[in-house]
Amino acid sequence: MRPRDEYAEPYRIKVVEPLRQRTREEREELITQAGYNLFSLRAEDVYIDLLTDSGTSAMSDNQWAGIMLGDESYAGSKSFYHLEESVREIMGFRHVVPTHQGRAAEHILMTMLVKPSDRVLGNMHFDTTEGHILLKRATPVNLVIEEGYEPSILHPFKGNIDLFRLEEELDTYGPEKIPFVLITVTCNNNGGQPVSMANIRAVREIASRYGVPVFFDAARFAENAFFIKEREPGYADKPVAEIVREMFSYGDGCTMSSKKDGLVNIGGLLAFNSEGYYRQAVQWGIVYEGFATYGGQAGRDLEALSRGLREVVDEYYLENRIGQVDYLARRLLDLGIPIIEPPGGHGVYLDARRFLPHIPQEHFPAQTLAAELYIEGGIRGVELGTNAFAHRDEKTGEIAYPRLELVRLAIPRRVYTDRHMDQVARALAGIARRKDSLHGLRMVYEAPVLRHFTSRFERL
Ligand SMILES: *Cc1c(COP(=O)(O)O)cnc(C)c1O
Repeated sequence: MRPRDEYAEPYRIKVVEPLRQRTREEREELITQAGYNLFSLRAEDVYIDLLTDSGTSAMSDNQWAGIMLGDESYAGSKSFYHLEESVREIMGFRHVVPTHQGRAAEHILMTMLVKPSDRVLGNMHFDTTEGHILLKRATPVNLVIEEGYEPSILHPFKGNIDLFRLEEELDTYGPEKIPFVLITVTCNNNGGQPVSMANIRAVREIASRYGVPVFFDAARFAENAFFIKEREPGYADKPVAEIVREMFSYGDGCTMSSKKDGLVNIGGLLAFNSEGYYRQAVQWGIVYEGFATYGGQAGRDLEALSRGLREVVDEYYLENRIGQVDYLARRLLDLGIPIIEPPGGHGVYLDARRFLPHIPQEHFPAQTLAAELYIEGGIRGVELGTNAFAHRDEKTGEIAYPRLELVRLAIPRRVYTDRHMDQVARALAGIARRKDSLHGLRMVYEAPVLRHFTSRFERL
């Protein structure tokens, strides 16, 4: 593989979307009006938007051409068959059921296979996955290795499943209580950390011994395959496309949010090898999503996705994608800005506890850092700390604080250049110079559920 600094973006820019940087005074005013909550800003007031990598990708000229060629037939759309061909060739699954988003695919899978009091095993279930498992009155069980929870430990595959605990679960509960194992690649909830091929293979072997199927949450499958190529012995010379096929060969199917490695702005899918699963999924898909050949999407969306799935396994694309995240991480480390290491596939996580050690958790260090990053550079990240995760014990009234105070800077695919990343680094360097003058925030409004989307703050 080429050294990180010896290549540039493998595309040139044909259409531009102008960005405007507000003045510092305007940004101060806007963030105050927004109650220091980044979700309440208008996107047009943001210069570099790193809120999420979901649905924010730039499509290629080839995908845009596909939008015009989309077949909007209700049944048997040509675009559906193009998607089916892509899924067969790229992922290796025989059947595909389109859905309007990843969570809709999860809804269908859980409805098909999960009963009350079941246990759904995985490395770390994504929030919506966990929600759908709980809605079936089943228990989501996270079995990621201990290193996966440790932000300062360097481990190449922090998304791996603890095989000992997997076997223990299967031994204790068996296939009667365990409908399937779900491997999330990459593991979103601990920062986009990859799962190794050896681990996937072992999970398959163990689960098969108990007669339990294996599915993937495949939102970032190509990024996971690239990490395997880079980090796992024996894969350096294998094409990513081959690695992807091998990964999925150990599964019975997958759910996928196309808003990530589908390189499109909306959509999702289920894919299976067995005709039986497919039939069941289509049955639920028809009531919840739409007929089997469109599933809540326009024909043009399916066409763009069928092309995106082919583009995302391109190694020049992936080397630049993963390389850009790594580039930002290295710039920040050079500046002494504390981040979670190693960075994952889709973003860099700032460690606000180490960055602002003088701000106690009750004064929201990560929310403070996120707000300051907007003031300093017009940059929007997302807080993953006390605002998002602290909760009050109903009996004692005491607040349980999360272990980590993070600001996630998620990098949209093919959207920003490395110059934008330099700008992010420069803004953080600016905050570092004046950080002793920051005193944190006080919460002045909080909604009863999922408060972080709408909470409001004042500066201390
Ligand atoms: C985004 C995501 C989902 C949910 O997909 P949506 O398209 O947002 O509904 C599920 N799993 C993972 C790992 C994700 O990143």
